[in-house]
Amino acid sequence: MDNNLFATRVQPEVPSRLAGLFPVMDYEDAIKFTAGAPAESLFPAHAMQQAYLDAMAAEGNHTFQYHTVDGPVELRERLAQRAMDKMQIENVTAENVMLTAGGQQGIDLVAKALLNKGDAMVVEAPTYVGALSSFDMYEPTYYEVELENDGLNTDQLEATLKQHPEIKFLYTVSDFHNPGGVTMSLEKRQKVVELANKYHFIVLEDTPYRELRYTGKSLPSIKHFDTEGRVIFLSSFSKVLMPTLRTGWLVADKAIIQQLYKLKEAADLEVPNITAQAINHFLANNSLDDHIAKLNQEYVVRMQAMIAACQKYLPEGVSATKPEGGFFTWVTVNDAINTTDLLYNEATPNQHIAYVPSKNFYAYKNHTNGMRLNFTGLTPAEIDDGMKRLGTLLTHAGQL
Ligand code: PMP
Repeated sequence: MDNNLFATRVQPEVPSRLAGLFPVMDYEDAIKFTAGAPAESLFPAHAMQQAYLDAMAAEGNHTFQYHTVDGPVELRERLAQRAMDKMQIENVTAENVMLTAGGQQGIDLVAKALLNKGDAMVVEAPTYVGALSSFDMYEPTYYEVELENDGLNTDQLEATLKQHPEIKFLYTVSDFHNPGGVTMSLEKRQKVVELANKYHFIVLEDTPYRELRYTGKSLPSIKHFDTEGRVIFLSSFSKVLMPTLRTGWLVADKAIIQQLYKLKEAADLEVPNITAQAINHFLANNSLDDHIAKLNQEYVVRMQAMIAACQKYLPEGVSATKPEGGFFTWVTVNDAINTTDLLYNEATPNQHIAYVPSKNFYAYKNHTNGMRLNFTGLTPAEIDDGMKRLGTLLTHAGQL
């Protein structure tokens, strides 16, 4: 195949960014801090099975027919209500809610709607690797803004905007960051909106972990502070129900949603009706809040095990973020250590542990002194054992 037949966005010689996460998953006997997936044992399988049956019983064969690009209005009404109750977004109606094929498609459609080749956008450093995969396809010019313990550095964001007022798009993970584990402070949420208004850009607030808060108090979404319709709020059922539903939802101004529907139609016509109806029946007959409370009750134990193990085992000079929810902790090591080399040369072959090295999470793949650790996929005993080994490894690596 002539590689020059591909569009420039494909870059056939470059592997997908997500492919970079998978090789370490092959080590069967390792304690894997690599997961990005929710715990399978906590899926509401029985209730979801019933919800699919209910959906089919209600609509008969029509369930399996083509429907419309926007999906069932009842589901969008429920989500509009949830956006107001849980995300503190004001005046949301079904017309402000759009269903997407997972949060991932929400990211992709927003990027497609905004970015011409070369357009300037801001991403956090580090940021969600799947978002980078999608943005890459639109060939933007990336500006990175560092992630701090209370969210992206808004001073740096402002300085970048002053220098590059052509920036039109900011992507941020506001709650329990993937991969950073941190949550944006209230002040920074307000500041992001203030800057968006002043410098005329769109904010995509991607927050699939938002309701998985185990300690501390929930903050209003960035969208709560939006005064000019510049913020797009994005959530997903993947982490609070199950990823296979492939259903995300976003809240935005109608003017934005209209453009996104054109792109949704072009991409895949519509959300699968049976899935949308099953989710609708699930929400009608079960309490999502109760289910989330159950998840949080289990995950909090694992998060606390991780926080305790970081304090106990990580040597001086190594720092770990302290999450209040979500799936991840981010560890930063000495600049001299390359966490990709450490993983393949030492961590998996000798210590039988695996993590995701930092370079995957940067637009320019040039930060090599960090690692993402998942804590929701392991038991507290596994977390303790694995972190003990990581501590030993880093103590040893620091002395090399
Ligand atoms: N955004 C973030 C920050 C994520 O972590 C993920 C999944 N890992 C997604 C979006 C996409 O998830 P999904 O498409 O399953 O909703």
